[in-house]
Amino acid sequence: MDLKPRIEALIAAEGPITVEHYMALCLHDPQHGYYATRPALGAQGDFITAPLVSQMFGELIGLWAAQVWLAAGSPSPFRLVEIGPGDGTLMTDALRALRRAVPAFLDAADLWLVEASPPLRARQAAALQGAHPRWADRLEDVPDGSPLIVIANEFLDCLPARQFTRDARGAWAERRVGLDARGTLAFGLGPAPAGFTPPAAFIDTPPGVVVEVSPRQVGFAAMLAGRIVSDGGAALLIDYGAADPAPGDTLQAIRAHQKVDPLTTPGEADLTVHADFPAVMAAVRAAGAQAAIRTQGEFLQRLGIEARASALATARPDRAQTLDAQLQRLTGDAQMGALFKAGAIWRTGDPPPPGFP
Ligand code: SAH
Repeated sequence: MDLKPRIEALIAAEGPITVEHYMALCLHDPQHGYYATRPALGAQGDFITAPLVSQMFGELIGLWAAQVWLAAGSPSPFRLVEIGPGDGTLMTDALRALRRAVPAFLDAADLWLVEASPPLRARQAAALQGAHPRWADRLEDVPDGSPLIVIANEFLDCLPARQFTRDARGAWAERRVGLDARGTLAFGLGPAPAGFTPPAAFIDTPPGVVVEVSPRQVGFAAMLAGRIVSDGGAALLIDYGAADPAPGDTLQAIRAHQKVDPLTTPGEADLTVHADFPAVMAAVRAAGAQAAIRTQGEFLQRLGIEARASALATARPDRAQTLDAQLQRLTGDAQMGALFKAGAIWRTGDPPPPGFP
């Protein structure tokens, strides 16, 4: 049975499910989940990410990691960890830049990829053959005891959120996926868990406006920060989402570069929510680490993306226009530059990573 009839049968038997549960089934059901079966990155696929826009993205992030490592006194060994590496493009570009600029970094690096998707693991293995990566299902499974430098682009948005809204009487309710009169998937409201209170910024949200809370994003951030506090190192999380708390339903399904209804083709479209950077940063600080956030545009400019684009254009004048379009796409306010944010995490007492002082 396909995923849709299976979810309908589950709801018919057990009642409506939370948006968090629905999203987890759509993405990770082992038989029919999107990431388990058909993750389609790239122009021919469902969505494009920054490393696929331009080689400059992965190159600059590789050099960011090298500067973090040098500032920490070049520890050897250390773990270089990418979470959700997709088709391996970011790491391929990073390693190419590092091999030329800071080969000692690669000698000291123990490369780990945290990846849930079997088809993407296979693509990563093909792309990164010479680099001898190892894979883990979760960051918790990457061995501790050495400093770590963690990179994750568009990973937080895969970690599901719960959605809450106030009903006409002002009481908090949880948005759920249930069945309509025809037995098809439909959104509805159910009671919020007893004692539910929204984050302080959302206390006065008017009825009908959706507020998202992601225990999975917050739990991941707390665990990552805890690792950095105990083992040393830094992390870079890049994703789309607001820098300050903002209400709103950000659940989005994308298929073949088009927004589609999140309920019509479960498991066949990529399903995401915005990264909740305010909650992620608060969890990092509560765990005793430092956190800062910049727009992607400002972060890449501080790392020198304009100089890198000019250098590439000087070497290949025939590609100058393409490179300028890539630069605009990654940094322009109307494109990815402002919606996407770069969040950094580092150990208290260490200098802030490049781009964040
Ligand atoms: N970073 C890549 C891919 C982004 S897509 C890029 O920028 O192009 C999201 C990635 O996160 C995919 O590799 C997906 O399989 C992985 N992923 C999603 N949920 C995950 C989870 N719970 N655990 C580990 N990896 C996950």
